[in-house]
Amino acid sequence: MLSPEIKEIVRRYSDIWALNYAYSLLGWDMETYMPRNSFRERGEAQGIIKTLIQRFYTHPEFVSLVEGAKPQNEVEEGIIRVLKREIKLYTRLPKEFIEEETRTKAEAFQVWREAKEKSDFQIYRPVLEKIVELQRKKAEYLGYEDHPYDALLDLFEEGLTVKKCERMFSVVPQVSALFGRVKGKYPERHPLEEEGYDRYLLQRLIEHVLQEMGFDFSRGRVDVSPHPFTVEMGLHDVRITVRYEGKDFRRALMAAVHEFGHATYEMNVSEELWMTPVQGGVSLGVHESQSRFWENVVGRSLAFIRRFRKEMELTLPFLREYGDEELFTYFTLVRPELIRVEADEVQYVLHIYLRYRIEKELMEGTMRVSELPEVWNDMMEELIGVRPPNDSLGVLQDIHWAHATIGYFPTYAIGSMLSAQLLKALKLEEMVDRADFQGIMSALRERIHRHGSVYPPERLVEMATGEPLNPEHFLNYLREKYLGGAL
Ligand code: MG
Repeated sequence: MLSPEIKEIVRRYSDIWALNYAYSLLGWDMETYMPRNSFRERGEAQGIIKTLIQRFYTHPEFVSLVEGAKPQNEVEEGIIRVLKREIKLYTRLPKEFIEEETRTKAEAFQVWREAKEKSDFQIYRPVLEKIVELQRKKAEYLGYEDHPYDALLDLFEEGLTVKKCERMFSVVPQVSALFGRVKGKYPERHPLEEEGYDRYLLQRLIEHVLQEMGFDFSRGRVDVSPHPFTVEMGLHDVRITVRYEGKDFRRALMAAVHEFGHATYEMNVSEELWMTPVQGGVSLGVHESQSRFWENVVGRSLAFIRRFRKEMELTLPFLREYGDEELFTYFTLVRPELIRVEADEVQYVLHIYLRYRIEKELMEGTMRVSELPEVWNDMMEELIGVRPPNDSLGVLQDIHWAHATIGYFPTYAIGSMLSAQLLKALKLEEMVDRADFQGIMSALRERIHRHGSVYPPERLVEMATGEPLNPEHFLNYLREKYLGGAL
């Protein structure tokens, strides 16, 4: 139950809630069904809605209600905490700064695309320098205690700092060594990667798998888009998308299972939190822990393959020639990869660590943008054992910096590490081995999902697992899975 004071705040917040609902739906439509030439018009509409949201958040009456509120319980504390964060973001950055950042982003996206096409970092360098400069300014506006990068990290993962990242990445040397030992065991190309499939049949298989795993199709949909994503309008409308490439079916299947993890987190938030500021999942890192748990821990397992073997064979008859173990190998191939989004779960955090190091030093001013291609390639060689032959396959591969998002990448590593910690702490191993999806889901719902954003992410992790994020669990998980427990 909410006190009258907080009820009034939530009542006023419902305007923002509704605008966010509309904004999300417009965004989903843009990626799926919108006619191609509506692009500009849609952008205008979305821009205006964003401005309205900002106006509601910064309305003096609303701000003073939030600033003066005295929360009486944990839910109320959560509501005020989340609102204060939003208000801070909208009030600390001067209007001129936001306008300049928006202009630079629009330019950067075009320039990045051209540079990537021509595989020439020099085209991108000037605008990236400007972006880095703007992000350093942004950190000053937002404020920080120890490190300018902290101000940006906190935007994507509440409470995240360089210190905590250092702790998380302390296992990088061991992961890199483990990767070195494992990578040679796999074929350079697996025959199943070349096998084609019928798109509509695979779509049916994916719908069946998601249904069996517990996706509620009365509150969700699965559609097609160039990049798979999840978007939630509210608790009762959460949508995911999948991309079909026509061959190598595990890519579409695992991407769908990944988005299923994001979607069910949103669907399982407690009804009591509906239409409040704490309705959604708490942070990018915790969100990614859910998607990675379902994709990597559950989806890329022998139990999953055995559970869906018959259904997979109906859609993909060529699978009859492959044993369960062989299919498991195909689902868990480990090979040196230049591109982050193609990377397997063993080397993935190494790709993130590289980006973290670069971002941190750019923010400190101890690295110059002009050095990036060299630094990138050297680190790839050191961590993964391959050297990108050109900028396009190296420093130019990600869109994030062109979007002026510095500080986002580490949340992916939190996701990987937290998924392993949840496996251990919630004692889910046996359920994974039995493909007991219901059991897994109810444990995750109980410890993580139902709380929405009531608790800050670090507190939620401690409540759910009994300790702060501990990278040792991730290391043990990888050793167990890829070295059969051997050190
Ligand atoms: Mg994800």
